[in-house]
Amino acid sequence: MTDFTLTKDADGVGIITWDTQGKSMNVLNLDALADLNACVDNALSDDAVKGIIITSGKEGSFAGGMDLNVIAKMKDMAGDNPARGLMDGIMHMHEVLRKIERAGMDPKTNKGGKPVACAMPGTGLGIGFEIPLSCHRIFVADNPKAKIGLPEIMVGIFPGAGGTTRLSRKMGAMAAAPFLLEGKLSDPAKAKSAGLVDEVVPAADLMARAKEWVLNATDADIVKPWDQKGYKMPGGAPYSPQGFMTFVGASAMIHGKTKGVYPAAKALLSAVYEGALVPFDTALKVEARWFVNVLMNPSSSAMIRSLFINKEALEKGANRPAVADETVKKVGILGAGMMGAGIAYVSANAGIEVVLIDNSQDAADRGKSYSAGILDKGISRRKVTEDKKAQVLDRITATTEYAALDGCDLIVEAVFEDVAVKAEVTAKTEAVIPTDAIFATNTSTLPISELAKASSRPEQFIGIHFFSPVDKMLLVEIIKGKQTGDRAVAKALDFVRQIRKTPIVVNDARFFYANRCIIPYINEGVRMVTEGVSPVLIENAAKMLGFPLGPLQLTDETSIDLGVKIAKATKAAMGDAYDNAAADDIMFWLFDEGRLGRKSNAGFYDYDDKGKRQGFYAGLGERYPLADDQPDLITVQHRLMFAQVLEAVRALEEGVLEDIREGDVGAILGWGFAPWSGGPFSWLDILGTPYAADRCDQLAETYGDRFATPALLRDMADKGQSFYGRFAAQATKAA
Ligand code: NAD
Repeated sequence: MTDFTLTKDADGVGIITWDTQGKSMNVLNLDALADLNACVDNALSDDAVKGIIITSGKEGSFAGGMDLNVIAKMKDMAGDNPARGLMDGIMHMHEVLRKIERAGMDPKTNKGGKPVACAMPGTGLGIGFEIPLSCHRIFVADNPKAKIGLPEIMVGIFPGAGGTTRLSRKMGAMAAAPFLLEGKLSDPAKAKSAGLVDEVVPAADLMARAKEWVLNATDADIVKPWDQKGYKMPGGAPYSPQGFMTFVGASAMIHGKTKGVYPAAKALLSAVYEGALVPFDTALKVEARWFVNVLMNPSSSAMIRSLFINKEALEKGANRPAVADETVKKVGILGAGMMGAGIAYVSANAGIEVVLIDNSQDAADRGKSYSAGILDKGISRRKVTEDKKAQVLDRITATTEYAALDGCDLIVEAVFEDVAVKAEVTAKTEAVIPTDAIFATNTSTLPISELAKASSRPEQFIGIHFFSPVDKMLLVEIIKGKQTGDRAVAKALDFVRQIRKTPIVVNDARFFYANRCIIPYINEGVRMVTEGVSPVLIENAAKMLGFPLGPLQLTDETSIDLGVKIAKATKAAMGDAYDNAAADDIMFWLFDEGRLGRKSNAGFYDYDDKGKRQGFYAGLGERYPLADDQPDLITVQHRLMFAQVLEAVRALEEGVLEDIREGDVGAILGWGFAPWSGGPFSWLDILGTPYAADRCDQLAETYGDRFATPALLRDMADKGQSFYGRFAAQATKAA
């Protein structure tokens, strides 16, 4: 069996049907491309075939795109000279699609070609839209759930099978920008009004309408504008007054958004710009060169690996113990504050019955009204219907009565961060819930094994750590206490799957995984202020690494008092080993000044009356004058990166992390760790462990033992190993 098959009907229409074996949606791999090529050759060379329709054998969709596993490995599979190998492979893909586009027509007269229509039953993404773009007319079924577009940029690459060149020439650079640079997807109706597709037709008529067009199309109907004499790019080529404005603006916008760390967006714009200056076939070559450039950059394969392949593997339960289905039917949430209210919303929204408990009916109702607020916003944006709102709210029972927890198969506790309060609610809850229910705590700082002492069923006790705001943050950290059993882990994972978030499973240790790594990031930034490093340099260094917030802004957002609380608790727990006096100096001082961060409209930054962030607080410079010698950018960046990354390595060494995939995915989704790098372990692999270990030695000598090379990293550096090499078996065990 092959993925593309050609049938010829009595009216002389060749129908090429794409049907990837063993997949619910079509994806392209290299063998399938050869099948497509053979079908196209056959149809074009057969005089009995008057025209061609390319369609899909899958109901409701055309294709999901290129197989990401293939893209991630393309470089490794491309031979000893991978850039050359990639270039040849991509040019071959262009040849096949260009053959469809020219369809046998005479190169001089543009006559005598066979009309080729694409009949899309629905979704067409990536190469699943680049193939249609090479056809002469695109028909789509009126399936409102279908998504059409070129989302490659979201994966860290760009449309490299002609999509970049064709779309920008079809629509103009400005109009194509949201689809190419932001990966915007459209339903069929919007795709038609934007000019991405030609006709939206009832699903039942799809093939008939495509066939009618194919049999009636004239020579003129099938010549693309760029193959006609006098073609001018809509909206203006680069060297035109309009084009000049577009490209200068786009370049600035890309740099502003990506801070120069995502290679794909810049490469894409270069391909459009340079391609617009030359004839179409040369433009395809230009696009291919830039595409190879991006594929050769280790960032693209690291991003694909972490953000798509491994993220999906974790969501599908890569680390789920082999126990029976634990789908949650009724969840009890203790505490209707900021976190409890958010957890109630995501649960009810996923169709789970929710009992939301607080000390007073008022507090419980306020927690429920948080869901109403989010749903109302959705209604005003036309994403949610009144019906849906009513259904979701109906699922939430807000009460003070613990008896209402009867029948819950999962409890998520989100009361105050206090061992005694948590112990009290644990006992009260266990008295009324079924004996086989799982009890989870959303604590962010208290050890799970400690809290489990209040439970009469510690093997059914677990940590499910959400991030704030719950409805937006994609990561959930599941923490196994010393006695946590497999069924509790499976329940937590099934719950996270139901609410469509990404789980990582870690062992119980101070601050678990995410907070453990982010605290040193904050501390390193704060410490540099005390050394007289310019706060502007610190914040920009972080942003130029792709962090959403610099460490000082992040501290203001999470609040100075929280920082002080954590510092005190950590100091008490660590005793003499505590090594953060420098950062504490500034945090305790700001705290004493009443500058608690954004919430008090004063922190590292000043804020105006409306809460808008202004410049840095002038008092900072008075207390910590700027040093005459400022460090270079890379030094500041390395301090910020290694502070976090070494914590991740130690978490792996200590067995808190069991899987480097979780370390990488968790870092990007949990605290926005430089997504272009693929995560802390991918970043170390990009640097190379020998270089990373050397660099740590230098940093440790200058700045202190917190940068000392962990034994694991030293061993790997000595052996020349990479993390994904050494831990490959583990990292692919269930992928
Ligand atoms: P919060 O103060 O907003 O909410 C706590 C709620 O618990 C309040 O509504 C309070 O009335 C209620 N409560 C207290 N004692 C109770 C009892 N005995 N019975 C029933 N309800 C009771 O706090 P929060 O920010 O939602 O944090 C809750 C938990 O989540 C804490 O353990 C915290 O460490 C953890 N957490 C917080 C964040 C965050 O960013 N805020 C992130 C992750 C985890």
